Amino acid sequence: MLWESASATDPGRVRQNNEDICFTRDDPGFFAVADGMGGHAAGEVASHIAMDTLVTRLDEAGCALSADDLARVFADANRAILARAAAEPLKRGMGTTLTVLAAVEEGQALVAHVGDSRLYRFRESRLEQLTRDHTWVQEHVDAGVLTEENARHHPFASVLTRVLGTTTSATPDIEPVDVIPDDLFLLCSDGLSGMVDDPDIDAILAGRSPLARMAEQLIDAANDNGGLDNVTLVLARPRHT
Ligand code: CA
Repeated sequence: MLWESASATDPGRVRQNNEDICFTRDDPGFFAVADGMGGHAAGEVASHIAMDTLVTRLDEAGCALSADDLARVFADANRAILARAAAEPLKRGMGTTLTVLAAVEEGQALVAHVGDSRLYRFRESRLEQLTRDHTWVQEHVDAGVLTEENARHHPFASVLTRVLGTTTSATPDIEPVDVIPDDLFLLCSDGLSGMVDDPDIDAILAGRSPLARMAEQLIDAANDNGGLDNVTLVLARPRHT
């Protein structure tokens, strides 16, 4: 299944470093975003280790990765980050999110994720979030203790309950995703989803501009709202044949 995609990453308006990284491969469709965290540039190291692990495995496989393959990649990336942190004390505690959309066959893909980098699907003019954030606030929304709106502006909004680079909880959620020809997928770090409300993301995607143009518009929207974090996104859609 052939795809087309555009990606963009920007440090935002406040931060010097960019700890986010993304990856796109249109044949077969394979897209990923990682958002690193940790002092002394360690966040950047963690997100790059995760992405390198993923891309190396994809290249070795030479074909679409299965759910088991993806689960192994997440476990391998977690181990690699822990090993590097053990060897370099300044990088202790570093971690990263990882969200992957992997086409499997015509009409089918897998989404795998740890952390709060999101996958959205824009279909029939409606934006739907397909991943559930692994965050303290999301757990409290699920438990009915916090509203979505309160969660958004909560001081703990970015506290992760699952992350790559920890010994406690790094197991990905892996789910099948059905794909129809006019779907448009958005993968993004919380520098986008935390700065730009879903209705505003929806409005940009509804404009149906070329993918690269919409990617720019989304980055601009995050920066116009303050650009408090690194902003990274991938837009991907199956190509019409
Ligand atoms: Ca971030």
